[in-house]
Amino acid sequence: MTLFEKIIARQIPASIVYEDAWCVAFRDISPQAPTHLLCVPRKAIEKVADAVEDDAELLGRVLLGAASAARQEGLEGYRLVINNGESAGQTVFHLHVHVLGGRRMAWPPG
Ligand code: AMP
Repeated sequence: MTLFEKIIARQIPASIVYEDAWCVAFRDISPQAPTHLLCVPRKAIEKVADAVEDDAELLGRVLLGAASAARQEGLEGYRLVINNGESAGQTVFHLHVHVLGGRRMAWPPG
């Protein structure tokens, strides 16, 4: 079981702010912005590169879930980030969308 599957199963505590049939969003334990959520599909896929045709709806639903969670948190402008692979900064190998908001975002990202 991945860390995030354990959070979804309530085996590890987390501050869950949104959930639906497809995904769960909770607060990142090490926030990089005033609001930092992780939107995670209930089905564990390691990373975006491992998604297959059958995951097309799941991928869309995770983005919709991220937008719903952001709306619920009162965010207007926010940044969505998906790290794919270790060299891109991925540390938890259960696909997730970072939702970062509450401050101005710089570009290009680091
Ligand atoms: P990534 O580096 O893109 O794989 O993102 C993983 C994120 O999970 C990091 O931002 C971590 O701070 C976050 N994280 C790790 N453990 C927990 C946890 N127990 N609860 C909430 N967020 C976590």
